[in-house]
Amino acid sequence: MEKRAVRGMHDIFGDEITLWVAVENKMKEILGFFGYREIRTPMVEKIEVFSETIGDATDIVEKQMYRIEAEDGVMVLRPEGTAPFVRAVMEHGLFAKGSAERYFYSGPMFRHERPQKGRLRQFHQIGAEIINDNTPESDAELITLLQHLFQGVGIINFTTRINSVGCATCRPVYKEKLRAFLQPQLNELCPECQKRFERSALRILDCKVPACKATVAPAPKAVDCLCEECRLHHERLKQCLGLIGVKAIDDPTIVRGLDYYMRTAFEITSDDLGAQNALGGGGRYDGVSLRFGKQNVPAVGFALGMERVLIAVKAAQVATPKSTSPQYFFAPVGEKAFSYLFQLSFSMKRKGICVEMLYDKEKSLKALLKVADRTQAAFTVILGDNEIAANKALIKEMSSHQQEETALASLEETLLRKVSRET
Ligand code: AMP
Repeated sequence: MEKRAVRGMHDIFGDEITLWVAVENKMKEILGFFGYREIRTPMVEKIEVFSETIGDATDIVEKQMYRIEAEDGVMVLRPEGTAPFVRAVMEHGLFAKGSAERYFYSGPMFRHERPQKGRLRQFHQIGAEIINDNTPESDAELITLLQHLFQGVGIINFTTRINSVGCATCRPVYKEKLRAFLQPQLNELCPECQKRFERSALRILDCKVPACKATVAPAPKAVDCLCEECRLHHERLKQCLGLIGVKAIDDPTIVRGLDYYMRTAFEITSDDLGAQNALGGGGRYDGVSLRFGKQNVPAVGFALGMERVLIAVKAAQVATPKSTSPQYFFAPVGEKAFSYLFQLSFSMKRKGICVEMLYDKEKSLKALLKVADRTQAAFTVILGDNEIAANKALIKEMSSHQQEETALASLEETLLRKVSRET
């Protein structure tokens, strides 16, 4: 059997991981400034955490979850972060203070989807959530934060779309209107949407198949069927975004894939991504806490996809960090020289200087210099047993090929001085 990584699940290394960590750190710094604190939940949850929140008729629950059949029941690899977050909030009474609390999470999610550019089976999300707050102001804050996270890592080419999907009072009325509109045209819809018609008609609105798009274009809009409370909420959200100076387009097709959203739904897309163009999205999910306990905890949140963010960062052509190369490569020739540089390398590493050397003592100086070139070290220190006898060492600047001789007794001091001058 060929032992390769599972399809749609990737190893991340080299310049990719360097960029990844830089982007993630920047985003965590911004989340800190906005007052969000980290929460980590397990990667495995009981299946009900998702089936009873996301909804049985959604693609995720119906066909995308990785199941683990264990002695104590069926568990799944988490396909998203919000349901586990609410489970944790309820389990630990994180709502108890009664006023708004802000959390963020980051980590891998798992969905058995058909892999393509920007769509993986193990992908990574950063998500942010506000609990104990039912105001449109908190929706506006999260949309602003999501935009700011993208801008903070150099992505400027994106579009923000918002919608309101109503609440338990007005959504059923809207659903019926939509179905009445679609009924005579069922044959025009793709087979998937024909199935959706009975169980999740709203999702027909965000189908990407051109024929479906054309059919739903003149359909009644959810925002025109909102009850008074939902209408006021949506109007105030738009007002708040205006106050903050955040641009967002009203788009009736933003319904999001999951059942738990109510009122506000939003999505940020980028033209740099190809078919899978959503960088992130979210919405309000006030009723979900009741699936886990008695307390009704209003909440709103979003999740962004790291892999897609990285594609967009690269497309934005902002200066991206590369893997760091060592400051020094040590090239000893002979046993005494090896021991000398071996101990010096650790003395310098402990002082925070990046030094590399090979432990293979058989290599010629020529071979060592080739390796030094490959590591892209700034300087190579050349030391042979002869140099030790003469109490000196050679320092070669790799970019200019210039060499200088230095006293062995003060070699460490010289090397430390050189890098402190550089930084
Ligand atoms: P969702 O949880 O489906 O609302 O997704 C939130 C964000 O996660 C999306 O906007 C994407 O950026 C990202 N995402 C969702 N599914 C995948 C996937 N299969 N592969 C890569 N990124 C994904």
